Amino acid sequence: MKPYLKRAWAEVSLSQLRKNVEIIKGLNSPPTEVMAVVKADAYGHGDAHIVRTLAQDCGITYFAVSNLDEAIAVRNYAPNAEILILGYTPPEYAHEISMHNIIQGVVSTEYAQALAQNSPASIRCHIKIDTGMGRIGLKHDTPAECADEIAEMMKINKLSAEGIYTHFSVADSDAPDNVAYTDKQQKFILDTYDELVSRGIKLRHCHFMNSAATCYRNTSRSTLSRAGIILYGLHPDVSLDIPEGLEPVMELKAVISHVKTVNKGDCISYGRTFVAEHEMRVATVTIGYADGYSRLLSGKGEILVRGKRCKIVGRVCMDQLMMDVSDVPEAKAGDIVTMIGRDGDDIITADDLAQVYGTIGYEVVCGISKRVPRIYID
Ligand SMILES: *Cc1c(COP(=O)(O)O)cnc(C)c1O
Repeated sequence: MKPYLKRAWAEVSLSQLRKNVEIIKGLNSPPTEVMAVVKADAYGHGDAHIVRTLAQDCGITYFAVSNLDEAIAVRNYAPNAEILILGYTPPEYAHEISMHNIIQGVVSTEYAQALAQNSPASIRCHIKIDTGMGRIGLKHDTPAECADEIAEMMKINKLSAEGIYTHFSVADSDAPDNVAYTDKQQKFILDTYDELVSRGIKLRHCHFMNSAATCYRNTSRSTLSRAGIILYGLHPDVSLDIPEGLEPVMELKAVISHVKTVNKGDCISYGRTFVAEHEMRVATVTIGYADGYSRLLSGKGEILVRGKRCKIVGRVCMDQLMMDVSDVPEAKAGDIVTMIGRDGDDIITADDLAQVYGTIGYEVVCGISKRVPRIYID
């Protein structure tokens, strides 16, 4: 018997994670150092185990997170790591950033000043440049103007700028206009970096590669590859293949709690949206939208039962859902079923599930709720 409530759980394969990292390390030549993006509890996979495995087994020393809480958690799991906060930290917390030796992403001169003023000690940062994402960062018409602002920021007392970075918005597309857009973003940050060098400012870091860029662009000029989704074996965008060997790390499973025969005309679940057109076998599964299995999958999602696909019937409830098991007569209470993962010859990935209800694999894995225990297997 497994040491957890066998209801709905996620199995996370640490050996697959290690394989993915090895593949990612080989994607660029010469190799680019990987900064593992472990925000949002390592994309729902559980940051404690993911960070420890990456740091201890894979030799990863750079991590990126979205906020201070996540950064402090990573600091505990990987005491010697370099940790970059990509998102906002209120300047009042500057002392905690420096106390834990964390690097803060800095988005403007005003923010840099506020951080430095609130910090008793020197505070490390990477300066974010908005080259086309339109989200956060210094925004300028020319690299020279951008370099002007950075050069001024470098003079701020107690601010220790160690790098610049930017984020691509369409590196996951091979449409020519999108490729040109990403080229432009890349050129802007590199020109800014070179401009700084020509003024005698040589920063240790200049990074701009996300998962998509790591897969589809080969450049040796990004000092770090900020790999997120591909660590977990999912696609930046399903329209483009990811390199061979990258496979999903997480599976999502639950059990059948009840099986019954329903008659023609019987209704299934809330709202009576499903009415049986003929006699059928219906199984109830111990997972629902409170586990992160979206209600948008009502009447649409498929689940693997003994290697066969079974369709969800009626609405997904908070903690349970029903599916048609007419084609799997052996299905019985206690059977383990697979929402995400492999069963026999068939597989449903988080990317596949995302397609069914119009989102991306990122949201599916991040959305697996806290109630679902993560079970780590090797
Ligand atoms: C989330 C994030 C990444 C990682 O993106 P993936 O597509 O998952 O690789 C990289 N950089 C920044 C700034 C991010 O916010």
